[in-house]
Amino acid sequence: MSETMLAALSNIRTVEDMIAAFRDEDHCRRLLESMVWPDGRICPACGYKRSIAIAGRDTGKRRARPGLYQCSSGDCRFQFTVTTHTPLHSTKLPLRVWLKAMWLMLQSDKGMSSVRLAEALGVSQPTAWRMGHALRLMVAREHMLDGTVEVDHFHLGGRPRKHPDDPPPGRGRKGQANTQKTPVMAVVQRPNGNAPGTAAGDARAAVVMGLSLRAAERIIETQIEPHARLMSDEAKAFMAIGESFAEHETVKHSSCEYVRGAVHVNSAEGFNSRVRRTIAGVFHHISPQHADLYFHEIGFRWSQRVVTGNAVRKTRRGRETIRTLWARVQPALQLPSVFRAATGRQMRRSPDGGIIIKSAVAVFG
Ligand SMILES: [Zn+2]
Repeated sequence: MSETMLAALSNIRTVEDMIAAFRDEDHCRRLLESMVWPDGRICPACGYKRSIAIAGRDTGKRRARPGLYQCSSGDCRFQFTVTTHTPLHSTKLPLRVWLKAMWLMLQSDKGMSSVRLAEALGVSQPTAWRMGHALRLMVAREHMLDGTVEVDHFHLGGRPRKHPDDPPPGRGRKGQANTQKTPVMAVVQRPNGNAPGTAAGDARAAVVMGLSLRAAERIIETQIEPHARLMSDEAKAFMAIGESFAEHETVKHSSCEYVRGAVHVNSAEGFNSRVRRTIAGVFHHISPQHADLYFHEIGFRWSQRVVTGNAVRKTRRGRETIRTLWARVQPALQLPSVFRAATGRQMRRSPDGGIIIKSAVAVFG
């Protein structure tokens, strides 16, 4: 994207700055174009790199709207705007409302409920809910994780709820209530060192059906490069999968070993607790059907941090440890990463007011 656009984004620090920056619809459209097409316009139908602006031209019936382009490929001639084939497709909301929504969601620490977003923007709650899912869909990342990658598993969902029909636990049905919880697997790429400015690695999570070998394999094979260095605890599924990686090291949680030099799954555990806190604090209950969308957002937030320094801390036993200090990338500067993979990611409104994900894969990205 153009340097002046990027410089303008770095000046957006407060709500007041943001309101001023996203006031003008034409400006917002140009800004969005520079983020969706950082290397120049691309036809969303065929990927052709040449197109012409037909805005303001008389197209017969009516004057074409601003921001309308036509693919120059003779076979295609597709007419498109910056939102075509993105989650913003066929939006009735002004782009300035979209940009404000994205900024507000990124500015909040763990995410924003659709109720609060609706209040802040003056839109309906279902509209705010769909905007949240548009963000989640755009920040889904597909590239394989590499380097040192930690895998871990955890369960989502608080204490089992008391149901009047269920017999109290402890009467021959111990452990039964735990089946209410959703098993989740997390994979986290460690940052490349701890020098200031280093970006946090990517983090992903997925709902699995139990921690079977098959379920774990499917996640790991699609998310992690085989030449990566894998770190995990000694769960059976991980031990078997580890053999197909260049390196696999484990910590014995069963005998209270959590860190052995560089061998640990502390990043993955940090990500797990962030997922749990976010779901419990902001989104309360998520359906397993949409869980992956929320995980995309939480993983994106995790990755939008940089190392600012290191602090030496003393443990209770007097041992010195180095703790890495992090700062979040400022919300406006996260926007280019949000929109970079927008094209091809499509969702539609379902008849019951929900959403249908038509495609979760970016094209020409
Ligand atoms: Zn085309």
